[in-house]
Amino acid sequence: MRALVKKYPKPGLWLDEVPVPDVGINDVLIKVHKTAVCGTDLHIWDWNAWAQKTIPVPMVIGHEFVGRVVAMGSNVADLNIGDIVSGEGHIVCGRCRNCLAGRRHLCKDTNGVGVNRTGAFAEYICIPVTNVWHADPSISMEILSIFDPFGNATHTTLAFPVLGEDVLITGAGPIGIMATAIARHAGARYIVTTDMNPYRLDLAKKMGATVALNVKERTLADVRKELGMREGFDVGLEMSGNGDAFKEMLANMCHGGKIAMLGIPSGDLAIDWNQVIFNMLTIKGIYGREMYETWYLMQSLIKIGLDLTPVITHRMHYTQFEEAFEVMSSGNAGKVILNWVE
Ligand code: NAD
Ligand code: ZN
Repeated sequence: MRALVKKYPKPGLWLDEVPVPDVGINDVLIKVHKTAVCGTDLHIWDWNAWAQKTIPVPMVIGHEFVGRVVAMGSNVADLNIGDIVSGEGHIVCGRCRNCLAGRRHLCKDTNGVGVNRTGAFAEYICIPVTNVWHADPSISMEILSIFDPFGNATHTTLAFPVLGEDVLITGAGPIGIMATAIARHAGARYIVTTDMNPYRLDLAKKMGATVALNVKERTLADVRKELGMREGFDVGLEMSGNGDAFKEMLANMCHGGKIAMLGIPSGDLAIDWNQVIFNMLTIKGIYGREMYETWYLMQSLIKIGLDLTPVITHRMHYTQFEEAFEVMSSGNAGKVILNWVE
């Protein structure tokens, strides 16, 4: 089969011929229809320090996908050939304390599809049945192909109640944009989404931000004044991974404010802990999606009318992967979809 492979330990990806994966007794073989490009894939393309220490070469990368079941192992009973499925990219051990307690998102031994094991940028992908999300076929394939990052956005946005609250979202990448739409759908009052990229700020505005703030032009203090907010934000969603954005967030939370942190800082990050202590802030780290409560909620959100289609800004054939990665790196994109079936 054809696949996008990290073939050599240097920047780039290579379209290559690789074997179709073997199907174990607990596995499901999926014909990939659509995949989406994630920031993680860009890091692997760039071959940054994280990728160099994490990715074994050669490796088929990619973890955001949708497809149809084409084969199953003998232990798999509840799927049919042709079913539309997406997949949870965190393969957990099933044996640690958290896994045994059903808190699989807290597994200490998570394996990543397209990071630690063969990924989805290929004509076929094979994953354990426990990682298969049997999709509602009334949801479009495009939307199903971005369930992984949509799950990051859902997990983070719903970490604390947002109904009637004022929400600050730092970073209008694809995930910050989806979080904006979810917070709007879930009944937040003011949503202020920040970035410095006008293309992405436009999308955030379109997806429900009360104010899409260009941090190069105005401050959060200006916006709070303009909105008549006497106290700070009730809920903060950090989705930039940028230390300055996080510090700005800390300085603009109300007393008792709650922060969910998804963005991954590139290294150590010093903050003024007095703001956390004296303002009695709660900070919660978020990793991945809850298995499978987040997936259930995502499906429900789409069914009750959450429209994420504007976040998908580019669609191309997988052979155009170089262009796809280029447009993603430029920042002038939301989600970029690669089609594997025509
Ligand atoms: P992205 O890199 O596309 O978006 C980040 C955005 O933040 C960019 O648009 C950038 O312009 C903006 N930004 C940078 N500095 C800023 C500042 N000072 N103020 C405001 N905005 C600023 O990333 P994404 O794919 O949308 O993901 C969001 C973050 O979540 C990334 O840090 C990513 O690594 C992380 N992530 C974490 C998990 C997890 O499980 N914890 C999963 C997926 C992604
Ligand atoms: Zn585990």
